Amino acid sequence: MIRNYWELTRLEMESLDRENTVVLIPLGALEQHGNQAPLGTDFLIAGAMLEYLKKEIEKVDRDYPMLMFPPMPIGLSTEHKDFCGSITFKPETYYHMLYDIGAGLSRHGFRKLAFLVCHGGNAPVVQILSRELRSDFGLYAFILSSGAFDHPDVKATISPGNVWDFHGGEMETSMVMAIDPSLVKLDTAEAGEPLDFEGNKSLMPYGKVSISWMGEDWKTKEGKPIGIGGDPKGATAEKGRIILETSARELVQGLLEIRDFPIRD
Ligand SMILES: [Zn+2]
Repeated sequence: MIRNYWELTRLEMESLDRENTVVLIPLGALEQHGNQAPLGTDFLIAGAMLEYLKKEIEKVDRDYPMLMFPPMPIGLSTEHKDFCGSITFKPETYYHMLYDIGAGLSRHGFRKLAFLVCHGGNAPVVQILSRELRSDFGLYAFILSSGAFDHPDVKATISPGNVWDFHGGEMETSMVMAIDPSLVKLDTAEAGEPLDFEGNKSLMPYGKVSISWMGEDWKTKEGKPIGIGGDPKGATAEKGRIILETSARELVQGLLEIRDFPIRD
């Protein structure tokens, strides 16, 4: 049975088979997403993914033992901190906050966590943390990335020519429109691309040779730092629904394998 962690009473928590319950912790961010999408984009997506995931998991296992943790509204957003409104933890603050959550869950007898990473910048800390939690507490901390951005159905939502789409682009803006279209100001949208890397064969923002980029590296055609990748103008709520639904469906198999993964004491 999938329930929200915060809705259980203490007595309900006490009677739960906590050792075999997966605690899903969605990790959002509070950071700029271009001119058109809200600062809480990743937090909103994290919340929506809980609903989409619940629906998809229950199609295959109505009794899936899961507690959904409140989505974390703030994450590691160093790369966006100078854009107005963005708020970030320092890596060590973020690490310790999540570590303390893991310690608390371990104290109550949980053995399996699943971090749902809804902002790529959170991932490096979560990777280090998950190994530490396992080493220190015997807590199995699995990592799920929330967006199935390589899935053909998701790729098909991107408008032709929009080659750089990722942070704050057409896909993320579409997802917010699927959640609450009133939060997107599409008429203000401007596209962003990594202009300084133009013409490079090897050194890219992502790739075999890369750099820990800052939002300012992503610019409009005129060279103004915009801090997003891609062109959001083609975003629609229907595209967002497809991306959220596909992303949730793509995580189900992994979650079944997490459910069945043996715990070795
Ligand atoms: Zn985002």
